[in-house]
Amino acid sequence: MTAPKTVDTIVEHAYIVTFDDAGTVLADGSIAIADGAITAVGEAADIAAAYTAAEVIDGRHRLAMPGLIDAHTHIAQTMMKGLFPELQRKGKQEWPVWRRYLIPFEANLSGEDMELSMQLAAANMLAHGTTTFYDAGGPHPHHTARAALATGMRGMIGRSTLDDSTEIPESMRMTTDEAIEENIRLVEDYPAGGLITGSMALRQIMNCSPELITTIHAEALARGAKVHSHLLEGTDEIDYAVARYGKRPIDFLVDLGVFDETLHAAHAVYATPWDVQKFREHGPSVAHCRNNYNFGTPRALEYWRAGVPIGLGTDGAATSQGMLDMFRIASGVTMGQQYTYGPVVHELDAIAPDEALQMATRGGAAALGMAGRIGQLTAEARADIVLLDLDSVDASVSVTPFSYLVDGATGHDVDTVLVDGRTVVSGGEVLTVDVDRVVSAARTRQIELVNDFNVF
Ligand SMILES: [Zn+2]
Repeated sequence: MTAPKTVDTIVEHAYIVTFDDAGTVLADGSIAIADGAITAVGEAADIAAAYTAAEVIDGRHRLAMPGLIDAHTHIAQTMMKGLFPELQRKGKQEWPVWRRYLIPFEANLSGEDMELSMQLAAANMLAHGTTTFYDAGGPHPHHTARAALATGMRGMIGRSTLDDSTEIPESMRMTTDEAIEENIRLVEDYPAGGLITGSMALRQIMNCSPELITTIHAEALARGAKVHSHLLEGTDEIDYAVARYGKRPIDFLVDLGVFDETLHAAHAVYATPWDVQKFREHGPSVAHCRNNYNFGTPRALEYWRAGVPIGLGTDGAATSQGMLDMFRIASGVTMGQQYTYGPVVHELDAIAPDEALQMATRGGAAALGMAGRIGQLTAEARADIVLLDLDSVDASVSVTPFSYLVDGATGHDVDTVLVDGRTVVSGGEVLTVDVDRVVSAARTRQIELVNDFNVF
């Protein structure tokens, strides 16, 4: 008999939902981890015979699953949490919100504000089992990236890029050359392979010039980077593209030669069936957000089942009604897609129970260009692992822990989180962020930032 191999950490005796190709579930499983990656996943007895480790995490009464992936965040809007529900309640919200509130808010943020926003968002995401985020881009991305690295999260960060609008505050305006330069610098300073990766970003076609769009695409292609952009998010965007370019947004991008796998399209709501086919043919990824149901009937299942890389996103704390909990996003998407596709044809099971969680794990991984590396608990994947408490009242009478995971779990059931093999949440406590200090500082600063609008 060969001696057990020594690894760094073993998570033992957990109920493991692997999200692997075969959908493997282990009622009494263990995970061996070394150098930040999963060495092996298997029956607890087999792992115990083959591996030994200095650090052992007790997985009994715990469900282990891959860390969740938030495929569209706005770290810069973290301190806008609660603004929109309050404006709606008072009947004071003005349109369009991106021009009236979102961009002016971001324009007022300092580098220190971005650090605070990142720390607060990371604490919130990690506590709820999100281990990876893909940010749409905000100001001061180097501050954001430094703060993100200290939290131990995995993420992709961009610089919000606008060069073609006079309706935005001075501090957010940039020339085409400045926008290109800042994007390149970020991608070069944070290359692929680390926990935090630089991404290129375009805000949306309504405030980016064709020259910026084509140059950013070429620079991203040359560097193996992605380009995060809002797309098909509003009827005003369709009208704009038709008025200015004589065609709908997807056709405009296809004709520019930039509609390919480098592009990550947030929302993609106002898609025709043939737009979905163009995604499938050309390869861009999609982030589907729960707030998409506020304004459209998104075709998330069509993208997913056509093989388009599609993940789920919160859209940040401002426009997700404050939620950075991907379990609740997945639950909302399940109901939204059932409502979108089901009732008109009396289809009671339009979306499978676990399909939204598949999108929030494997789908997000594919969308971020990290398929096989994150979003699943399999050998050689990075060790991004979430353990949920199965002793809760919700979980206790579930027929299987898996049905609980799909229908009952929320981020509040998360007990332990590992990112790249490192424990960053234990016993529900975030270990890498000084949560009390960050919450207190954010409360004070939020009042100053929101008061600048004078909206209430
Ligand atoms: Zn967004």
